Amino acid sequence: MTTLKHMMLVIGLVALPVSAEPVLWEQNFEDGKADGWSSYTHALEHDRALTPSARTTHGGSRYALAVENGTARVRLRKSLGSEQIAWPGADDTFLSFSYHCQANASDQDEVIVSVTGRDGEEQFGRNVTFPVRTGLNRWHTVTLPMAAFGRSDSGTALIDSISISYFRPRADDHVLVIDDVRIARGLAAPPVLIEPGSLRAMPRTISPNGDGFDDAVSIHGEWLAPSRWTVRIVDAAGETVREIDGDGPLRATWDAKDSNGGLVTAGTYDIELRSVHAVAGHAGRIERSRVVVVDATPAPSGSGVGAWSVGAPYGVDRRFAVERIVEAPAAQKLSRTPDAIHVVLGRLEAVAFPLRIAALEHDLDNVSISIADLPGLHNTILRATDIRFNAIEYERLPGGYLWEDITALPESFELKKGATRRVEGVVRAGKDLLPGRYEGQVRVGADSIEPRELSLTVDVVDRVNHRPWWQGDPLRIMLCKYQIMPRPEFFEHSEKGYRLISAAGFNMMIPYTAYKRHEMYSTRAEKYGMKSIARSWILCVGSPDTKPPRFLIANGTELPIHCPYSEERWGTRDVEPDPSTPLPQVKILANAKYYARMSLEYPVVGMVVDFELYEVGRPRPVPMYTYCYCDRCIERFRQFARIDIPELAPAERQPWLKRRDLLTRYRRYEDDELKRYARMMREVVHEINPKMTFFIFPWEGHFPELVGRELGTQRVPVLLGTEHTYGQGGYHDFIADEDAALRRNRGICLEHLRELKMADVPCVYLPGVMPGYHAWRHGEIPSFCERNATTVARHADGYWVFFQRTGETWDKKKMHDHGYQEYLDAFGRANRRIVAGTYDR
Ligand SMILES: [Zn+2]
Repeated sequence: MTTLKHMMLVIGLVALPVSAEPVLWEQNFEDGKADGWSSYTHALEHDRALTPSARTTHGGSRYALAVENGTARVRLRKSLGSEQIAWPGADDTFLSFSYHCQANASDQDEVIVSVTGRDGEEQFGRNVTFPVRTGLNRWHTVTLPMAAFGRSDSGTALIDSISISYFRPRADDHVLVIDDVRIARGLAAPPVLIEPGSLRAMPRTISPNGDGFDDAVSIHGEWLAPSRWTVRIVDAAGETVREIDGDGPLRATWDAKDSNGGLVTAGTYDIELRSVHAVAGHAGRIERSRVVVVDATPAPSGSGVGAWSVGAPYGVDRRFAVERIVEAPAAQKLSRTPDAIHVVLGRLEAVAFPLRIAALEHDLDNVSISIADLPGLHNTILRATDIRFNAIEYERLPGGYLWEDITALPESFELKKGATRRVEGVVRAGKDLLPGRYEGQVRVGADSIEPRELSLTVDVVDRVNHRPWWQGDPLRIMLCKYQIMPRPEFFEHSEKGYRLISAAGFNMMIPYTAYKRHEMYSTRAEKYGMKSIARSWILCVGSPDTKPPRFLIANGTELPIHCPYSEERWGTRDVEPDPSTPLPQVKILANAKYYARMSLEYPVVGMVVDFELYEVGRPRPVPMYTYCYCDRCIERFRQFARIDIPELAPAERQPWLKRRDLLTRYRRYEDDELKRYARMMREVVHEINPKMTFFIFPWEGHFPELVGRELGTQRVPVLLGTEHTYGQGGYHDFIADEDAALRRNRGICLEHLRELKMADVPCVYLPGVMPGYHAWRHGEIPSFCERNATTVARHADGYWVFFQRTGETWDKKKMHDHGYQEYLDAFGRANRRIVAGTYDR
């Protein structure tokens, strides 16, 4: 039995060290209240699900998160609106706050501090992430130079928002308390001057034997503020054996010599970095790198020359290595044999096989990569023209990868000693590449190095078998909200609308309408060469007269919608559809049968299963998938688990289960109920039309994993529509720089693919693009949507558009000045490029 797990974030009161410097802005959370701070959670359940508005107070009421799978994240955000903070932009201005954390020790907990604002016309904004010291119930103060978030050239910058997020990769008991957020010209504690985690010493083992290989360690790090620095090499006894000073960028080399010029003895050494803020003059926090091992073994004669290895970790006898990185889109089966790359072209038109090339011993002057033609098993060859090489770089960020631009690799390039270059080879299945096995060789060489070869095997499978009706065409789905489109003709659902959407290159429509008109819409879609998916109501709708059992969430609030784990909502296997039933009362299984039967006569190819939990007045974003504690659910659990549960008030149920260590078991039971209903839905639909496809949404918690595995099959995978790439920089974040925002979205897609592979959900992965998602701030204007669509579609099986806002159609809240047709034109350009495979680089 897993113990009860929970996490809390509360706000308390703490005294700060007195600072004599002028305070520009501060926020003390007196009595735990943080007025004007909003909070978001990424968790399966929390007890503040019905906060009436985004303006919330933290601390006085306990803010609890209960998470069982994966990670927990809480964000406190202060949007300053018209009360923007002006800061002078001088280098002696710091943001500080205090925290204490009670938790089991973990070296992965992080706090992410983010500030956004403007400096004249320039937007600035950045995250700084640093580790949280857990297991200690005492106050720590973190002080960050404001320069870390953006530089002020004008002398005064304006801050729009500040947010502090707590990220814990484990879900167990812990409490984080934050207080005394302030911006001041001066220091509350030694400042964090070096980007946390950026202090590196490479390689970790050196052999200073003069053979030209790994004779010295290079030390580098990234500054958050201009600093003077001293690197100390400290031996195991704590004695400093060498000091290296500098200012500006931290780039130092230690050649294993002590301060007298003699070689140190073999052993382990700490690298310690001391810094002084260049303007404020205060000493920064002392940073330590991991230990460096000095190996004093003499060089063997003729060591390592010409040695070469593939797919192995770095070693001492190697001077040039190509390392495969086995990170690949979900559908690929990559062989782990050391010298072959097997790529299954099952779902994607183009697949990537990343290589990492490292110059370990000396500069490589003229590295080149080429593909050699080689007869394959079926007397076919993989042509050089089927592969292209690109250089890629990425940086790990909380919540995803930030990808640098991908550029086509020049014919040859230089590689400095110690540097690595990530290279992505992209194999394209050209029109003449028929199913079969293809072989080729990737050849990597340099002027001073004999070229070496990696054999490459590409299995091209019959794609038609895996694509029941979209036949290898990346999905380009349009879902619009007719309610806010140009009236009176509900433009996009009119004949003209379908014609224009089809002309823009979409191949599937999800009309935003329920239950009754899909015969007409699907016929219209077919007329314009598009497939049609029926939208249905699942969890997200209810009415005040909804009969019990109603959805009762953990804090005891009853929502006016059916319990999502009940027969009242789902119906039974033999329930028959009745078109006269009012919508909120329609049983899910009956609805599914209705569409399945319709699909035999009309070109409806699937239906939407939307588990978004909507409630008027809920702050957004909110958790959309959560558990129910209604009478019915509790009673069924009582019978299932054979335990006595007393009569409990609604708000007492979840806490009671928690106290009795039963909450995990309860949630698992509810998960199993949901899976049981989902399986039943697949079965009743399957009996009528086995080709019926489910479009599931959203990706919240482990919902796709629970439901997707039941609703999807290898032949008819679920279409997984996700929301995380809606905006310019993702779902929660806004990244002003368009290129950086696209790199973030690309990273989100790659993370998703990895997760889907792990969860083994048979699915077609479809990231979402939403015009105007961040419109209240800046975008997403048509040109960004175009780039976003091509970026995400490149790494997925297509994409979907959630179209609900344009300037011309929502006058009351006019978001921006672009009209419907402008967006259609932009998506049209994107769709043409997606079909042609000419993606954004
Ligand atoms: Zn219930």
